[in-house]
Amino acid sequence: MAEVRRTVVVKLNVDDSDATLLHKTVEEYLWACNYVVRDAWQDDYKPTSKNTLHDRTYSDVREQTRLQANLVQSARNRAAEAIKGVVARWKKGKKASQPHFTTPSVRYDKRSATFHDDRVSLSTVNGRIEAEYILPPEGDNPQTKYLRNDEYEITGATLQYRDATDTFFLHIGTKPDVETKIPDEGDAENSTVLGVDLGIEQIAVTSTGMFWSGDYLNHRRREYERVRGDLQRTGTESAHRTIERMGDRETRWVEDYLHRISKAIVQEAVAHGCDRIAFEELTDIRNRMPSAKKFHAWAFRRLYDYVAYKAEAEGIDVTKVDPAYTSKRCSKCGTTLDENRQSQAKFCCQKCGYEVNADYNAAKNIGFRLLRTGQKSPHGGATRHLALKSGTLNVNGGYSPTDD
Ligand SMILES: [Zn+2]
Repeated sequence: MAEVRRTVVVKLNVDDSDATLLHKTVEEYLWACNYVVRDAWQDDYKPTSKNTLHDRTYSDVREQTRLQANLVQSARNRAAEAIKGVVARWKKGKKASQPHFTTPSVRYDKRSATFHDDRVSLSTVNGRIEAEYILPPEGDNPQTKYLRNDEYEITGATLQYRDATDTFFLHIGTKPDVETKIPDEGDAENSTVLGVDLGIEQIAVTSTGMFWSGDYLNHRRREYERVRGDLQRTGTESAHRTIERMGDRETRWVEDYLHRISKAIVQEAVAHGCDRIAFEELTDIRNRMPSAKKFHAWAFRRLYDYVAYKAEAEGIDVTKVDPAYTSKRCSKCGTTLDENRQSQAKFCCQKCGYEVNADYNAAKNIGFRLLRTGQKSPHGGATRHLALKSGTLNVNGGYSPTDD
């Protein structure tokens, strides 16, 4: 059976002087990542081997930073992955530029960090610091399921700083502890689904209550159409060429935007310990969604493909389900009525009175549908869950700049 790895997000309790040390550590770590990339970029043929990059940069980085050896290696590994990603894109004839690390995060392993039940000890630019976990009460949450569970062992963690809330978070990786796992029970295996609804007003909404508005995309789209219309009316050869160039640029822009959304969706699934993501079936979408343009159908397919691709790397399966009634069914009591869907944005159940954003309701139904098909997760899954907003942490992970 495939090994199921989970990431659990934990907020850290850090006092001011330790926070200063962590900020310095992040700063020097990012500097180290960028140093390795810059070094590789001096060559026409970019080195991607960790050994080569190590030989070329290790002593320099040790000299110029206060990072402990394991963090220097971690930074070099991260740079190596980013360089590999760029080279892979080039090989496919795609564009990619020199990676530059800005997201405030540091990858720790079990040598640079020590994980305890209630706290972590982290290597910094000046010795180690200890930070307590801020954990939710024990219950149906990923912290209880994976972190407080002896059947899961910790593999490492990524420290992340969130500017908006001025907090440090630890994204702790876990995997089933093979030693303590009793084979024939087939128990502890939970299957958790993230439901995703796609639409025009909201490009994507998850069953965990994350929304990505379509405004930005729709606005840019309209602007583009307007300019294209003006150019078409001039009808000259050069206007025609301009239209083509603009079209290419617009496509790249939209693809990049969809990449970011897909990445956030997969992060959301990882943060909620999901092993499956459910989308609605995309064929025939323009009949079901009368206001959808050809562009939307294209964008939805792209978004789905990007999510499927990124999810695979996390061991998460992506499936499409029959979309029938997902917009009219009450995700709370299960009643399906035309009148439940009051307007584009509003859902109000005529039976139980549940009032909620219509897309969010649909996202939950899409997730439920996959659970109810009885289709088993390839990872097993005796107990099945839908990842929901309540009782779980909401995560907006930063983008690392290259792995799209
Ligand atoms: Zn209801």
